[in-house]
Amino acid sequence: MSDAPIAVVTGGTRGIGLAIAERLAADGYDLLLTYRGDAAAAQAASESLASTGRRIEIISADVSTSEGATATIDAAITAFGRIDVLVNNAGITRDNLIMRMSEDDWDAVLSTNLKGAFLTSKAVVRPMLRQKSGRIINITSVVGRMGNAGQANYAAAKAGLIGLTKTLAKEVGSRGITVNAVAPGFIDTRLTDVLPEDLKKGLLAATPLGRFGTVEDVANAVAFLASDQASFITGQVLSVDGGMSMAS
Ligand code: NDP
Repeated sequence: MSDAPIAVVTGGTRGIGLAIAERLAADGYDLLLTYRGDAAAAQAASESLASTGRRIEIISADVSTSEGATATIDAAITAFGRIDVLVNNAGITRDNLIMRMSEDDWDAVLSTNLKGAFLTSKAVVRPMLRQKSGRIINITSVVGRMGNAGQANYAAAKAGLIGLTKTLAKEVGSRGITVNAVAPGFIDTRLTDVLPEDLKKGLLAATPLGRFGTVEDVANAVAFLASDQASFITGQVLSVDGGMSMAS
């Protein structure tokens, strides 16, 4: 078995998750990545990560179910024997104004974005407690701090993720495990591609740095929180949002 540190990235096959995977691979991690259904993206991720020379496992597992979350952690332990870093990144949007938002859209977003992080964290805590070390990094959003019209389900899930981060940090801190969150602002990915142009303009105007973030901006913050340099940081929310959350 190799001495490389091991990271699990949920939703690691495209967008922000893939950038996190690429960055952690460059930092020397072996990786287990998950996705839900887009096998073509998973195949492309596998091909692009092959050149890193790291061992990369990719599985399809739905983090919103306890079977999927447990399968994710079990697969990493079977493949690598330990997990040093868990990045809860898998996320979806189903936007609508509250009066038009269906209960299904509420449940789907809460199930993947919040319950998924709970289930995967719950599954990883036991092996991390045994190791007496570990890092859990939750990808929340600027929207979880500020709210956003049309995203009640998403904002509630992301705000919930901040509460989960702080609570778990208190529960496992004495056992050498840190739990932090990264709160991206608007980042150029498939998730934001679909936003209307006038909304994009407004978002840029509300961002002091005057640009959308890149997936690498987010990956850099995750790599820092995963590193030894962040060993005395826990229960924190690191905003990577061009200043948006302090602009109002
Ligand atoms: P993408 O839609 O590009 O990628 C999402 C990834 O999550 C895919 O790999 C997808 O798998 C996976 N996924 C979705 N649902 C599940 C599930 N139930 N179980 C397992 N995997 C799942 O999203 P982004 O890269 O844009 O977003 C990544 C994270 O960053 C999300 O948590 C998002 O909320 C957050 N974020 C994004 C921002 C942005 O501007 N883009 C801003 C702030 C936060 P598959 O390919 O199979 O669908």
